[in-house]
Amino acid sequence: MRLKDKVALVTGGSRGIGAEIVKTFSKEGATVYLNYNNNESKARSISEIYNNVKLIKADVSQREQVSKMIEYIKEDIGFLDILVNNAGIMLNMPILEYDEAKVRKMFDVNLFGTIYTTIESAKIMREGSSIINIASNAGIGTSFMNTTYYSLTKAAVINFTKRVALELANRKIRCNAIAPGWIETDLTIGARSREETEQLKKFLVENTTIGRWGSVEDVAKVALFLATEDSGYVNGQVIVVDGGRKDYLTHSI
Ligand code: NAD
Repeated sequence: MRLKDKVALVTGGSRGIGAEIVKTFSKEGATVYLNYNNNESKARSISEIYNNVKLIKADVSQREQVSKMIEYIKEDIGFLDILVNNAGIMLNMPILEYDEAKVRKMFDVNLFGTIYTTIESAKIMREGSSIINIASNAGIGTSFMNTTYYSLTKAAVINFTKRVALELANRKIRCNAIAPGWIETDLTIGARSREETEQLKKFLVENTTIGRWGSVEDVAKVALFLATEDSGYVNGQVIVVDGGRKDYLTHSI
């Protein structure tokens, strides 16, 4: 039980990567606050099976709601040890088909949601806490077509990660990011046609050193590492979990 007596908050935890992180942390003995925005029934189906999973509704892009969520955790249990800023959306468009409302919505959830949840959570974090931001390999340049504006939100999350690591170090709070590649979830399936998705999967098998696309488990295992003292000397880093994309490796410095 690597997370016994630890208290975690996972945003966007009702499905996909977030849900897998909630399950992994629960299996390791943590009390996990599962934040969801709309999908109460999916969230409930997790809390009914996994131990010490508590549901908490909030739209992370609304500061008021985030503030109330942290107030609730403070009153309920008193503190936090682990925060996973996982909630995110991806709205694809070519650069020249810029859609102001969609781009702002992505920044609101992906960047401002991460900022609000981090600064509110920090108020109740104990020494030794770990903040884990789910960024994307898009944020370091490995974009697919039409994900440029999404990639900008994640680039900002990566920079925020490093600055938080720097400024919260005096409170012994670490902050790292995970940059997943293409993981099969509602987010990636929902953003493209079936044909585009099949082409992408073929590309990934051929252009990934590991020879497959990623799973939610691949990301949750790294989140667990960053949540524990096994990563106690890792701070301000971005761990890329993309199976080693050949096209990116060959162009990296
Ligand atoms: P997903 O769509 O299955 O999960 C996203 C979760 O965030 C959902 O539960 C959704 O309800 C929640 N959410 C969205 N807006 C919210 C809001 N305003 N407030 C609270 N919750 C909100 O997708 P996923 O693939 O599991 O994505 C999880 C994270 O991983 C996202 O930040 C995403 O950008 C990132 N990511 C995913 C991939 C991938 O290939 N799937 C790759 C890189 C990064």
